[in-house]
Amino acid sequence: MSVPASTGEMPSLVGLIGHPVAGNPTGPMLEATFAHHGLDWRYVSMDVLPERLAPAVAGLAALGFRGFHVTVPHKVAVVGHMDRLTEAAALIGAVNCVIAEGGGWLGENTDGKGFLESLEAVVDPKGLRVCLLGAGGAARAVAVELALAGARSIEIVNRDATRARVLADLIADRTTASSSVRSWSAPIEIGAAVDLVVNATSLGLNDPDAGPELDFSRAAGPLVADVVVHPPLTRLLREAGAAGLRTLDGQGMLVNQGARGFRLWTGIEPDRAVMRAALAAHSSRPGEDLA
Ligand code: NDP
Repeated sequence: MSVPASTGEMPSLVGLIGHPVAGNPTGPMLEATFAHHGLDWRYVSMDVLPERLAPAVAGLAALGFRGFHVTVPHKVAVVGHMDRLTEAAALIGAVNCVIAEGGGWLGENTDGKGFLESLEAVVDPKGLRVCLLGAGGAARAVAVELALAGARSIEIVNRDATRARVLADLIADRTTASSSVRSWSAPIEIGAAVDLVVNATSLGLNDPDAGPELDFSRAAGPLVADVVVHPPLTRLLREAGAAGLRTLDGQGMLVNQGARGFRLWTGIEPDRAVMRAALAAHSSRPGEDLA
């Protein structure tokens, strides 16, 4: 989409709303990328309490924001404040990237697309048989994009069985992929008929010793992906690597979804090497927690 021409001396504004937002790496990553491309844009991280969401979104419109990211806990609630949704955002039922268009807000979900872009660099998603751990926001985004990209089947393994069933029904009813549900019982066995395992739970976040317990003894060489951003090398990825399996980390997904937002707002394709370097510099700061 085209972005309205710059209004002159004032920088263009984008940002993030969430609660909390402290430690979120997207701001430093995108600020470094704006600077690299010589763009007079600012990315502002804003802590917004759930009960202040409506006035905050109205305030961003009044202030002329060109768009904004949305993180926990607002991704679902913000849908009600959008003027239009992309197909994926409507299916996922959550928005994480908002674009100003024609005086209104367009709600997009780039989480799953960021994941898919990482995946496509390694394997064609068409026909894949997927075992997906989790049924929260990230899992919904990953499941919908995998299904829209032609995955053959998605098995959902989640602690809360009702959430798993709701996601499985969404995939079966609204996409061409088949779906099934398995109860969460450790260790989770990965059978020979699985091509891709995705950890889309928060297990392992900010804890290198935590992670889902998987049994790969019957597996036939699946690709193992983790959406967890920090640490980049999670326990799951270390264990999969030790078992000789190919792996994908969550930082690629984060860079890709940040790049999509950058492009949707500015119309410019960002230099991902700059984004990756800024993310790595931010992640290595002592005591940094990335949610
Ligand atoms: P949600 O709160 O929506 O979902 C959390 C999921 O984790 C649920 O499926 C939940 O299961 C499961 N879970 C949490 N604790 C446990 C546990 N102890 N044992 C088993 N399952 C557990 O969070 P999100 O989906 O928004 O985020 C999930 C992860 O994805 C986070 O680490 C987040 O940082 C990451 N993420 C990464 C992105 C990237 O660009 N790389 C983008 C977006 C998110 P249950 O339903 O049973 O509670």
